[in-house]
Amino acid sequence: MPLFDTAIAGSLPKPSWLAETEKLWPQWRSSGPELAQAKLDATLVWIRAQEEAGLTVIGDGEQSRQHFVHGFLEQVEGIDFEHKVEMGIRNDRYKAMVPQVVAPLRLKGRVHSAEARFLRAHTRQRTKFTLPGPMTIVDTVADRFYGDRVKMAFAFAELLNQEARALQADGIDVIQFDEPAFNVYLDEAASWGVQALERAAQGLTCTTAVHICYGYGIKANIDWKQTLGDEWRQYEKVFPALAASSIRQVSLECIHSHVPPELMALLAGKDVMVGVIDVASDAIETPEDVADTIARALQFVPREHLIACTNCGLAPMSRAVAEGKLRALAAGAALARQRLVA
Ligand code: ZN
Repeated sequence: MPLFDTAIAGSLPKPSWLAETEKLWPQWRSSGPELAQAKLDATLVWIRAQEEAGLTVIGDGEQSRQHFVHGFLEQVEGIDFEHKVEMGIRNDRYKAMVPQVVAPLRLKGRVHSAEARFLRAHTRQRTKFTLPGPMTIVDTVADRFYGDRVKMAFAFAELLNQEARALQADGIDVIQFDEPAFNVYLDEAASWGVQALERAAQGLTCTTAVHICYGYGIKANIDWKQTLGDEWRQYEKVFPALAASSIRQVSLECIHSHVPPELMALLAGKDVMVGVIDVASDAIETPEDVADTIARALQFVPREHLIACTNCGLAPMSRAVAEGKLRALAAGAALARQRLVA
């Protein structure tokens, strides 16, 4: 296997014919069978863009879901989407209209089979598929039934596990759970978040991963980062618990963040997906920027465990910027490989 796999965190921008552009919660442009076809068409556009850029692990770009959490919830019974309520999420960092849990949770059926099988059928590269993590789901939905965050998280973890096992059977190579909430509820992440995550990943034999970030490059997140000081040590709380867990890969923010790189050493034994592409800036990294970030990470991550990745999803960006960033990611990893043999 070549050094330095390259992958996206998960989401990519939706083309203008599929949905509103440069929005985190975009409205679809069509409905019914026309929308279903448009989602797969957009997925193919991004599979090819990732391949042409030269990435080694390919995702569906989350073209089939409106939002990384609610895309999953739409297939869950026990959730009332008709009566959304406003809720402060990520510890009140921003407000969102969220659906409510009103009854015991159950999957209505498969959630992502169409796009996962489509992805598998249209690339020969290894594939990665993302699901929201249990703790982040609990933080993005209103509870009118369980009355207990931990209980509700484990209920979601069971459903996630069902879908994850089915994705594995679809031929997906890497299943990643997105847990930005781990960076917000630090004590809870260490005390039960990682356990709930392991419940979601239970029994999987494919590669398992978790993505923990400081959020999309939207204003609320950029403002929040301004309040975090010169050193962001949030990862320090949860990395030891993850190092001791069964999850194999951890995706984290690196470039242009204030995360002390030495925190990556807390993930000994894990594959580390190092964020080498900034999602909060439209400036496209040079291959040198990317290779330099990889070099900094190599001080703390053994080379065979380093995967070059984006800091977070690219969903709210323009298509042209995202394409440029995919090319920078692959070219930067190639340059880092060259530097090692030079
Ligand atoms: Zn993220």
